[in-house]
Amino acid sequence: MNPSTYADRFDGHRAMNDLIRLCSLGPRPAGSEAMERQRGIVAEAFRSHGAEVSIQEFEGVHPLSERTVRLANVVGSWRPERPDRVLIGGHGDTRPRADRERDPTRVLGPFLGANDGASGVAALMELARHLTELPGSAGVDLVMFDAEELVFDEVGDYCLGSCEFALRARNQERAGGPSYAAAVVLDMIAGREMCLTREGFGRDYAAWLTEDLWNVARNRGTSRFSDDWGHYVEDDHLPLLGIGVPAIALVDLDYPQWHTLDDRPEACDVGAIEAVGRVVLEWLGRWASLPESPGKTGLLDNENRE
Ligand SMILES: [Zn+2]
Repeated sequence: MNPSTYADRFDGHRAMNDLIRLCSLGPRPAGSEAMERQRGIVAEAFRSHGAEVSIQEFEGVHPLSERTVRLANVVGSWRPERPDRVLIGGHGDTRPRADRERDPTRVLGPFLGANDGASGVAALMELARHLTELPGSAGVDLVMFDAEELVFDEVGDYCLGSCEFALRARNQERAGGPSYAAAVVLDMIAGREMCLTREGFGRDYAAWLTEDLWNVARNRGTSRFSDDWGHYVEDDHLPLLGIGVPAIALVDLDYPQWHTLDDRPEACDVGAIEAVGRVVLEWLGRWASLPESPGKTGLLDNENRE
């Protein structure tokens, strides 16, 4: 199957419906009941489309009350027997406070995180619908990370869920289990005016992976990816880079509604999430179809080798 045609199956309308459904749970900060319900929805979405699902439970500390918070990542694995794996992830928790609100009375208002939270998860749910028919043979894991931002006005640590995930992935690899050849994090990928720039850490530490995705975008002719260099963003790709997995984040930090109460479904757009979803799905299809080799570092490299 042509990976480009295959990727057209990613349906932005369906992803947007998922985004709206997740937002209807209300704010979903780490440790909340709404986050727990979201976990159930996502686990079921993965399972019903052929994934083996595991829940990685762990504990964190609430940065204000210092109480223990129960946290969990959701991992959906397609072709779980494959040792060569690719990871697509995104955080499901929403920021506890809308701390970029200029009006202090609004900071404690209900922050829905339609783009910052739901968009990445909705894209994972739509990707899940197509993975049993993924071309090629590589294994794929979709991961909803918990506690990317259990942070109050910069009090607290970022990326608790992806840190926990990375720790377990490293132990698993050391024990002779599967390893990740590449990871792509999706965060804020549905903003109306989104035009993704190349995030700094990914560009510096996983240049070939960044170029792989941008080449696919260029060939698809999407206007949602820019050739400009973007910000350095502390996101869920960093713990993965820390254990040596080439990892990038597709993240739109220029989203005008970022960390405000206006981060609602109305600020999101079918065309944006669809453009990103299709680029990721096409890249996945191309990657999974590459011949397995020890030095496998991306589409460009392999094309040059032929
Ligand atoms: Zn955020």
